[in-house]
Amino acid sequence: MDIHEYQAKEILASFGVDVPPGALAYSPEQAAYRARELGGDRWVVKAQVHAGGRGKAGGVKVCDSDVEIHKTCEGLFGRKLVTHQTGPEGKGIYRVYVEGAVPIEREIYLGFVLDRTSQRVMIVASAEGGMEIEDISADKPDSIVRDTVEPAVGLQDFQCRQIAFKLGIDPALTQRMVRTLQGCYRAFREYDATMVEVNPLVVTGDNRILALDAKMTFDDNALFRHPQISELRDKSQEDPRESRAADRGLSYVGLDGNIGCIVNGAGLAMATMDTIKLAGGEPANFLDIGGGATPERVAKAFRLVLSDKSVQAILVNIFAGINRCDWVAEGVVQALREVQVDVPVIVRLAGTNVEEGQKILAQSGLPIIRATTLMEAAERAVGAWQNDLSQNTKVRLAT
Ligand code: ADP
Ligand code: MG
Repeated sequence: MDIHEYQAKEILASFGVDVPPGALAYSPEQAAYRARELGGDRWVVKAQVHAGGRGKAGGVKVCDSDVEIHKTCEGLFGRKLVTHQTGPEGKGIYRVYVEGAVPIEREIYLGFVLDRTSQRVMIVASAEGGMEIEDISADKPDSIVRDTVEPAVGLQDFQCRQIAFKLGIDPALTQRMVRTLQGCYRAFREYDATMVEVNPLVVTGDNRILALDAKMTFDDNALFRHPQISELRDKSQEDPRESRAADRGLSYVGLDGNIGCIVNGAGLAMATMDTIKLAGGEPANFLDIGGGATPERVAKAFRLVLSDKSVQAILVNIFAGINRCDWVAEGVVQALREVQVDVPVIVRLAGTNVEEGQKILAQSGLPIIRATTLMEAAERAVGAWQNDLSQNTKVRLAT
């Protein structure tokens, strides 16, 4: 799960990382009012969307008066901000953060990530801040400083001092830098983050070290331990299909193709998507209904997949291990009777009680296309979709 910049800053600040004074606003009037409250004569208005690259896309603007803040905000609120991280559809702007403008002397890149190779939290830093890390590693790979944290002892101050030294931080600021690095690391550990990125971390003209931007991503599987983090979820920033699925306890990832997949198990979902591709099609989604595929769950899955208007065929691929194919078949039949499905449905069942399952599908009287192997199922799904959904393969049922 991602959170907004202002939320990440609040968390980091509570761990001793310095941030500029700022305030959140939900309207242009409130933004101008907030700026007056903050004081000063220069502010930065920052669109709060779950994506980086806002500066280049016009989502971060320096303003010299409250009138200018009001005008800038009128151009931001309600708009979709398209950055290189949002995809062409962009992300809606419903909140802005107003922050005191900071006299920047140096911009540093600082990131904490989970490194799978070393199985450690890795610190990635570069004196080339302000640029995206992908560009830094392409253009200035030598500028990148990396260090990993030994979990048994945690991040050590000497490591932080070494990083500060390699970044060329003024020795007078080393202690501040140690505190900043330790704060980010503690926030990362405390809340089961998978990423903390401060880009840029700046050194100001008056010798302060401030996090000018902040991004945090959390491990979804650990959110149950951190209700105060789950609360920060902003559904307006998520793919609506994915948040609807999460609300229903289904694991769903929306993709760009047109063959909807209803599968149990993540590995099987991956194999199904690969096979669809191999057969010349494109998956519209990745939907894992999990272990116990009750009829209700299958019906929910159908509803969800069908709410995506680009879906032109549905491939159900279930391997019954703990489950039983006859239960799953009953679920599919029940779902098709409840939900209006007007695209071809291809079902492949394997595992326990597969014969009974096939019998239930065959006797249902529903025009379900059955397949034995995964390849056959994928070919039939792609074929059904390419044949422009010939009428006799369609399931048309009243709800
Ligand atoms: P993004 O990474 O999404 O583009 P940032 O928060 O990093 O957004 O802002 C982009 C740039 O705007 C920063 O690299 C920095 O140069 C400038 N900036 C951001 N906040 C401030 C601020 N409070 N004062 C001065 N400059 C700022
Ligand atoms: Mg940034």
